[in-house]
Amino acid sequence: PGEHIPALEVRDLTVRFAGLTALDAVGFTVRPGTVHALIGPNGAGKSTCFNVLSGVYRATEGSVRLGPHELTALPPHRIADLGVGRIFQNLALPPRATVEDSLMLGRHRLTRTGFVAAGLRLPSAAREEARHRARVREIAAFVGLEQQLARPAGSLPYGQQKLAELARALCMEPKLLLLDEPVAGMTADERRRTASVIAGVRDSLGISVLLVEHDMGLVMRLADSVTVLDFGRRIADGAPGDVQNDPAVVRAYLGE
Ligand code: ADP
Ligand code: MG
Repeated sequence: PGEHIPALEVRDLTVRFAGLTALDAVGFTVRPGTVHALIGPNGAGKSTCFNVLSGVYRATEGSVRLGPHELTALPPHRIADLGVGRIFQNLALPPRATVEDSLMLGRHRLTRTGFVAAGLRLPSAAREEARHRARVREIAAFVGLEQQLARPAGSLPYGQQKLAELARALCMEPKLLLLDEPVAGMTADERRRTASVIAGVRDSLGISVLLVEHDMGLVMRLADSVTVLDFGRRIADGAPGDVQNDPAVVRAYLGE
């Protein structure tokens, strides 16, 4: 897995809002098929960075490259088409739709024959739908939700709803997943399960993950490398064990 996965290279990324520099010449690289964590105290610029990577915010300066593609000028749907999937901090699945239908919506970007052919009931459309449904079941099994496919997403326990969102993002066959606090609000059990799913995303599917997470235990166990932001600046970057003991990082967290 993962031989087609490109690196994500963020260089000199600066984002200014009126009177405030939310990101100040930040750079880091997410190597293919690794989990890279982006951490830092509240207001450090983590979500701003995600919003630039997914095309929601415009960079003031700098570049973001995914393999050969420059992302900073592209709208969100083009960035998604290039293989950047995203899970939001808050739940975003339609609560009344079944898990299976929600995941099928995640396949929409990949359908080729489209709604016209489906509406005309062409055999090609039926074959394509069956193929997508089979893949949806595979992905549901991958995150451990194969028994929940027929249930409304909104009726699942919180941790499973978050896993369903992760599954929906996987249904878009991403090359890079942006996860903003994936285990926030979860029980210890749900955290463990989610951590092993994220490890599987990297190890079995070969997908790169950029992870924003406050749970330091999880970051230290899961991440291959870490970038630390504070007040929009990069204050440390490296292996989890080194970053954890960096005096600048300790100071930033004590000052929170
Ligand atoms: P984090 O996710 O690390 O907690 P954010 O990226 O949300 O930090 O915020 C970084 C800084 O940018 C904060 O000071 C925040 O108030 C500011 N900020 C974020 N989004 C906007 C916006 N749309 N307009 C103005 N300021 C913003
Ligand atoms: Mg944030």
